Amino acid sequence: MDLAQQKQRALDALDLRAPQLAALGDAIWDRPETSFEEHFAARTLAAALEKAGFALTWGLGGLETAFSAAFGTGGPTIGILGEYDALSGMSQRAGALAPDPLVPGGPGHGCGHNLLGVGSLGAALAVKEYLAATGAPGKVVYFGCPGEEAGAGKAFMARDGAFDGLDCALCWHPGELNAATSARCLANCEVLYRFTGRSSHAASAPHLGRSALDAVTLLNTGVQFLREHIIPEARVHYAVTDTGGYSPNVVQAYAEALYLIRAPQRSQVEEIRARVDDVARGAALMTGTQVECRFVKACSELLPNHTLAGVMGENLAAVPLPLYSEEELAFARAYCDTLPAGGGTLAAMAGQLGPAGKALAEAHRAEPIHNFVVPAVGGEAFLSSSTDVGDVSWLCPTAQIMVATMAAGTPGHSWQRTAQGKSSIAHKGTLYAAKVMAASAIDLLQRPDLLRAAGEEHRAQLAGRQYLPIPPEARPIAVRGAQSES
Ligand SMILES: [Zn+2]
Ligand SMILES: [Zn+2]
Repeated sequence: MDLAQQKQRALDALDLRAPQLAALGDAIWDRPETSFEEHFAARTLAAALEKAGFALTWGLGGLETAFSAAFGTGGPTIGILGEYDALSGMSQRAGALAPDPLVPGGPGHGCGHNLLGVGSLGAALAVKEYLAATGAPGKVVYFGCPGEEAGAGKAFMARDGAFDGLDCALCWHPGELNAATSARCLANCEVLYRFTGRSSHAASAPHLGRSALDAVTLLNTGVQFLREHIIPEARVHYAVTDTGGYSPNVVQAYAEALYLIRAPQRSQVEEIRARVDDVARGAALMTGTQVECRFVKACSELLPNHTLAGVMGENLAAVPLPLYSEEELAFARAYCDTLPAGGGTLAAMAGQLGPAGKALAEAHRAEPIHNFVVPAVGGEAFLSSSTDVGDVSWLCPTAQIMVATMAAGTPGHSWQRTAQGKSSIAHKGTLYAAKVMAASAIDLLQRPDLLRAAGEEHRAQLAGRQYLPIPPEARPIAVRGAQSES
């Protein structure tokens, strides 16, 4: 059997696993768990890997729901990243065509991570089957990465060395088109500012009180002025996470605001964070309160690797696309009808692909499912979101594809995305993603020149720059009320 046949046999074996992968994705959808509380999802995925002969390690980065599962010996080590956290407030009945939460205010899979963790698992199983059948040297390691949405779990794992020794890492994200983007994402950082003052009767003894709520108001006002004097690519978002209660006749002794700062580079984020810290200290000084600045999380910007993105792009084109029935197309079209016109990733990408991109977007505008592969976008393209995959990309060559698992134009973090998370379209997309990732990993195992080129490109990208890990004393905290920052 030649190399191509060995690869094809591993991919064909994945078809037999289709029912297993669909059932896993549905089970995780049915039990949505938010960042760092994904006990069911982590246990379920780990059990499937352990049953297939992978060796488990738990508690990476000090996170209870983080794990790795490794198979193979010698040769290069290929990491495959999986996520499985849900979003608070995104509960939604599967298949419903209007907002209809299963649990009002409850969590739901509004980003598709129930599929993400499972598609990556399928890829890891197929690579394991290839290694076992051929006896080829090489190792595949599945990383169960918790808290992508509100905790940046991979940054904790990266700081503690979980990704050391990898020759590359592959990932995917469920979406509404098929692409190997090579795009950069924004770095970010989240800080909680907690003010402590002194309570008092707001009418009879206001002079004795020191208002923490006033301090939060002055922090927000100060940052509003700061926004004019930072780089235009930066974003500073906030939420008031504690107003100090709902009694206006009390001087509020406690109040708190959560800030999320984004910029193209982590060093720029740090610079802006230091200035927001100063504004917070100023607000405390003005109000006679104390402020505690508490680090919550940070993500590095994603360093694209064109060599790896090229390998994944070729496999996106080579692996047969899913076939959809009339019922599936009608299901997707019904969701398209609930979406505002002009949105979607394809429209956003069209601008970055020039005239060819605009023609592409126009050609596919009326489709209910974008069942084609978008040509590669240049490395200088920017996505305004952030991802903790960025931290991994500083430690080894990393690539991430997007695969269609839902109706064209479905936005991230929407009720429509949760509602489509158990559909047969979602299952077919997940299987396709698993095959593309497995095919890419097998190419990298069969062709050492590709991994060498990816490594050289990675070293050139770093050009002497160092990965900036999160502070050694940082511990994961679940901020209640904070939804998502990705
Ligand atoms: Zn998300
Ligand atoms: Zn996501």
